[in-house]
Amino acid sequence: MAPSFSDIVEETRLSLRSLIEYGENLLNPTVRLGVTGLSRAGKTVFITALVHGLLRGGRFPVFESLATGRIARARLEPQPDDAVPRFAYEKHVRTLIDERQWPSSTVDISELRLVIDYQRQNAATRSLTLDLVDYPGEWLLDLPLLKKSYEQWSAESLALSRREPRARLAREWHAHLVRLDPDGREDEQATLTAAKLFTEYLRACRDERFAMSLLPPGRFLMPGSLAGSPALTFSPLDVPQDGSAPSGSLWAMMRRRYEAYKDVVVRPFFRDHFTRLDRQIVLVDALAAFNAGPEALKDLEGALSGILDCFNIGRSTFVSSLFRPRIDRILFAATKADHLHRSSHDRLEAILRRMVERAAAKAEFAGAAVDVIALAAVRATREAVVQQGREKLPSILGTPEVNETSNGQIFDGETEAATFPGDLPDNLDELFTGKAPFRGLTTATSEHADFRFLRFRPPLLSRAAGEEPALPHIRLDRALQFLVGDKLQ
Ligand code: GDP
Repeated sequence: MAPSFSDIVEETRLSLRSLIEYGENLLNPTVRLGVTGLSRAGKTVFITALVHGLLRGGRFPVFESLATGRIARARLEPQPDDAVPRFAYEKHVRTLIDERQWPSSTVDISELRLVIDYQRQNAATRSLTLDLVDYPGEWLLDLPLLKKSYEQWSAESLALSRREPRARLAREWHAHLVRLDPDGREDEQATLTAAKLFTEYLRACRDERFAMSLLPPGRFLMPGSLAGSPALTFSPLDVPQDGSAPSGSLWAMMRRRYEAYKDVVVRPFFRDHFTRLDRQIVLVDALAAFNAGPEALKDLEGALSGILDCFNIGRSTFVSSLFRPRIDRILFAATKADHLHRSSHDRLEAILRRMVERAAAKAEFAGAAVDVIALAAVRATREAVVQQGREKLPSILGTPEVNETSNGQIFDGETEAATFPGDLPDNLDELFTGKAPFRGLTTATSEHADFRFLRFRPPLLSRAAGEEPALPHIRLDRALQFLVGDKLQ
């Protein structure tokens, strides 16, 4: 595609910005760490636990600079971007520790600046500025829209929505589409209804029972300040891929809004935020996909390859070079590993590794260094051995959230319960084909109850007088070592 004048102006502006940031970086080393993942993957909990651990000094034996005492102190400072909301760290940490509730999840981009004073290996003192940028992974999955016409996107979205389990969730939306005449006059009410039903279909797909991952446009489920605007009020239509919309038609109106979505939502995000990240962690709730079954897993793998595509934008087209990322390390992390027994953590990691490798092959990914980890940013459970009959079974103990299960068992939100964690098969294909379905959590009395979606409350922490307690975790220190360890040498 030939560059337009505005592309050239934009490219020059961005080059200038990179140069300024490069100069600042020499004086004051800064790492912009992106934290992303699909909805409820664990972004908010991860950032809260990481910052708490750095400010307070967590138990991080594998995070070398902290473990060897080279970090003198860490502190929060005002963030550099005035137009981005601040990550509500103080509120989240109090909710987690004092109220023993999980903080409210990410719905928009936010940012937090942390400055770490440390001693270099050669004993000189220095500061590293760590800018944490939290944003929904759904936004990354919007990137392919830039290359697609409205007609192409419509055809692909409709084809996907005709496959099970999506088809049964799309029934009402499909029924509405049949009644629409794309060539007929533009009609705001019909468009509002189509957008509403389309969004409801996307929301139903995201429900934990189906746990679908590929649900663009990302802002339909997380509209933020754009809720109700025309750029978010459109839907795919059943129109020919190579056709053109008659002027003044419903089709032309949908198409215009789809293009507006790309202009006001997708491009600015990649240009203003994504291209400025140096490192990235992608959180993945793999257990949720295992629980929901093979379709959810295939969808998750598709989403992972879509995410890898974003880190792989080459120089192939001029426009894409505007969005070229500078990220040199990406960590994929399977979260909530505290729902499994310790003996399964390596297997969870191995399964995610194979999924990422397969997704990377699809995305023809070659770029940043990639690693994979299984972690729990906040460990809500303990391990124990439970005697059942003659057998001694490894179990995990935690306080389930207030809940009545399908077999009438009531959890009061205060009492601990012993659960048996599910086993993960060695063979990824067995999960993908459903040959070895993952059973998730079970209890001694849960023969007929569905425990797959049981949530534990955050841990009860013992507090020495006047001292801020440390949050227990699994492998959070290893994640930190990979993400910033080399910058603290
Ligand atoms: P976000 O949408 O990516 O910001 O997700 P959150 O960080 O809000 O996490 C969503 C939910 O996952 C939380 O409310 C918790 O129920 C659960 N969760 C997240 N991290 C952990 C963890 O480390 N351990 C456990 N047990 N649950 C977690």
